[in-house]
Amino acid sequence: METPQGSELTKRPAIFFDRDGVVNRSPGGGYITRWQDFVINEGIGEALRLCRSRGFWTVLVTSQRCVAKGLITLEELHSLHDEMQHSLGAAAQFDSIHVFTGLPGTESLEKPNPGLIVEATEVLPIDLKRSWLIGDADRDIVMAQRAGVPSTVRVRTDHRVGVEATFTVDSIEELIKVLEQQLSVV
Ligand SMILES: [Mg+2]
Repeated sequence: METPQGSELTKRPAIFFDRDGVVNRSPGGGYITRWQDFVINEGIGEALRLCRSRGFWTVLVTSQRCVAKGLITLEELHSLHDEMQHSLGAAAQFDSIHVFTGLPGTESLEKPNPGLIVEATEVLPIDLKRSWLIGDADRDIVMAQRAGVPSTVRVRTDHRVGVEATFTVDSIEELIKVLEQQLSVV
């Protein structure tokens, strides 16, 4: 017998968020290894609250090869994400956080492979066919496409654009407008 959690009826769509450049100010070519360098983008809390109020899961999918490079330990990265969650506040937290670290054996999680999204579906009942991804790099958009997530929003940063997203915005303010218009209550 299928458990209620696993049934199609109880599945909800998710909004997958890339981290650097979307949730927080992009570190450029480098990595963020200390909380004091983690600058949450203005408006992202409002965007997260909006997604949650429409009934969507909010899921962070981020590549942090700095772990494999020895620039930060996995424990330090987890506490940085704890700080982020605390700072966002209960109404704007991520339901789940998934990280590619670059450590041996994690290759399937490297964007643009769909592994991070697949991993999220193993911990939350997610309906991918109604889900969205918000990212700033081609690898984010392609990851969504490969995972069967049909709707994507690119927040334009300094990344080169090679793949078109469903929507492209220049600011978090503009992102909120797109989400307000496009997300129906689930
Ligand atoms: Mg990014």
